[in-house]
Amino acid sequence: MSRLRPMPRLLGALTLALVALAGCSSLPREPQPVAVNIVAINDLHGYLQANPFSYKDPQVPGGVRKLAAGGIATLGGMLTQLRQQDPQLLLIGAGDLVGGSPPLSAMWADEPTLEALRHMGMKLSAIGNHELDNGKAEFLRQLNGGCQSPRPDKACQFRPNYPGSGFPYLAANLLDSDTGRPLLPAYRIEEVRGVKVAFVGAVLRDVASVVSAKGMRGLQVADEADSINRLIPELNAQGVNAIVAVVHQGGATPEPFDKPDCSQLGGDIVDVAKRLDPAVDVLISAHSHQGYLCKVGPLLVTQGNAYGHLLTHLTLQVTPGQHRVASIQAVNLLADPARYPQDQALARLQQEVEARSNQVLLKPVGAIAASPIARRADAAGEMPIGDLIADAHLAGGRAGGAQIAFMNTGGIRSDLALEPGQTQVNYGQLATLQPFNNNLIAFDLTGRQIEQVLNQQWKGAEDANILQVSRGFSYRWDAQRPLDSRVVPGSLRLNGKPLQADGNYRLVMNGFLADGGDRFSLFKSGRNRSDLGVSDLDAMLQYLKAMDQQGQPVGSSTSAGRIQRLN
Ligand SMILES: [Zn+2]
Repeated sequence: MSRLRPMPRLLGALTLALVALAGCSSLPREPQPVAVNIVAINDLHGYLQANPFSYKDPQVPGGVRKLAAGGIATLGGMLTQLRQQDPQLLLIGAGDLVGGSPPLSAMWADEPTLEALRHMGMKLSAIGNHELDNGKAEFLRQLNGGCQSPRPDKACQFRPNYPGSGFPYLAANLLDSDTGRPLLPAYRIEEVRGVKVAFVGAVLRDVASVVSAKGMRGLQVADEADSINRLIPELNAQGVNAIVAVVHQGGATPEPFDKPDCSQLGGDIVDVAKRLDPAVDVLISAHSHQGYLCKVGPLLVTQGNAYGHLLTHLTLQVTPGQHRVASIQAVNLLADPARYPQDQALARLQQEVEARSNQVLLKPVGAIAASPIARRADAAGEMPIGDLIADAHLAGGRAGGAQIAFMNTGGIRSDLALEPGQTQVNYGQLATLQPFNNNLIAFDLTGRQIEQVLNQQWKGAEDANILQVSRGFSYRWDAQRPLDSRVVPGSLRLNGKPLQADGNYRLVMNGFLADGGDRFSLFKSGRNRSDLGVSDLDAMLQYLKAMDQQGQPVGSSTSAGRIQRLN
C-alpha cells in the first residue's frame, strides 16, 4: 500500500542473491501483482449530450482542437470497449455528477442522468458540492429513491417511481449534525481478482462556501486529508491491499490533460495531496473541471475535466497479500463520439429525454440585441452576460426596493447566443445560462460595507472573483493596490452619485450569494432581508420578455464599463 520508494542498495543486492537462489524449491515465490482497472468520471453535471470541449493540439491548424465531446451514449460505448479488455473494471465517480445541470437533466431533477450512470454500472462516487444544491433531504432522495421532494414539479416526472441512484455516495468528512453521525459511508472496499481496493471519499472542506446555506443546513464538514488519514488503520485491519482517495476538490496546471506525470499542479488539492498518509496510493480529484495526471511528490493526482469530456483510466498493479501497489498507469481518455461505438440503450435514453424536454425548452422567450452575449470577462473582470444578468436581477428586485444587483460569475454557466435561424432565445438557453434556480434575496448594506464586500473579490491575484454589477452602479479598482483593498476608495457611484459610507443601499442577488457564497461573507450581514419569491431564472425570463415587448431588446456584445480597472 505504501507508494514505491527507491530500492535501497542493500535490498538490490539481496534481490540479486534471491534471483541466484531461485532454483531452490523451498523458497516462497514472490506473488505476482494483479491488475485492477479503475475508470473515473467527475463533474458530469447532468450533461447527457456531447458538448463543446477544446484543448491544445499542435497537430491541428491553429493549435487548438474543438469538438463536441462526451454524452452518455459515447461514455457508455467507451465503457463497453474497456470492459471487453477487463470485465471487472470499476467505474467510480468523484462528485458533481448531478446538479448545475443543463435543463435537459435539471428539469427532471437529474433523474435521467442517475439512470444513465446506473446503466453504466457505476460502483460508487464521492459526494460533490452540487449533490447538495437542493439540501440534504433531496440528496438522500436522489440516493435512496422515492418521490417525496422539495421540487415536486421535477421529481418522479421522468419515471413514476424513481428507484434511487443504485450506487453509494461516500464522504469521510461530512457529518449529519442532526444525528451527530456521518451522513454517508466513508469508504467502500471492492475485491478484484483476490485483491482488496478501498475507495475513500471526501468533499472539499470549504463546501459551505460553494453550497447555499439552505443546502448545507444540518451538515458539518471536516478536513479532507485528516478524515481520510484517520481511516488507514481500520482499512489495514481489513486486509486492504490498495487505497484510492476520491476527493471532490481540485487544482489546475498549464500542462496538457493527457501528459503523464505532469509536475505543475497548483490549487487547493495540492495541500490535500501533501497531507495524505503515504499509505494512499492515488488521489482522484475533481471540482475544478481540469484534466490532469500530475504528481504531487510521489502521489499521482488525477482529474478528468468535466461534463463527460474525459474518462480517467487507471491500472493499478496490486500485489496480493501485501499492502502494496507495485505500479500505477493512468491515462485520460477523450470521449470523442467519432472514436467509439455508441451504447444503444443510452442513445435511446437520451432521445427519450430530448423528445420529452423539447416541448418546454424550445419555447421562445424574446429577442436579444446582440449575439453572442459572451461570458468572457474584460480586463476589469466585467462580462457582457454578467451585465445582462445583473440588470435582470435588478429588474426582478425593483418591487422589493432594490437599487443594486450583484451576480457571482460562478453562477453564470454559458454564453447567450442565437443559433442559426433563431430570432428569439428560448427557455432552454436561459435555463442553461442560470441552472441553479435560486430565489432572489433583497437586503440592505451601507456604502462602507459594499466597498468592503468588493474588496473580498481578490482572494489571490490568480483567481480574482469579480462580481457582475447592475446598470447605474460603477466603481474603479487598482491592480497595484494590496489584494484586500484594491477598490479605489470613494470611487463607488450609483446613478452618477458617490455612495455615502453610512448611507443605506438595498441590494438584490441570488440566494447563494446572499448567504455569503463564493467567500463573499459580508453579504451575510445584510439587514432587512427578504426572499422576493422569484427565482433568478424567472427574473431573466420576465426581463427579456418585457424589454423585447417594449421594443428594447437587451444585451450587448461588449461589457458596459461599469467596472474600471487601473493598472
Ligand atoms: Zn464541485
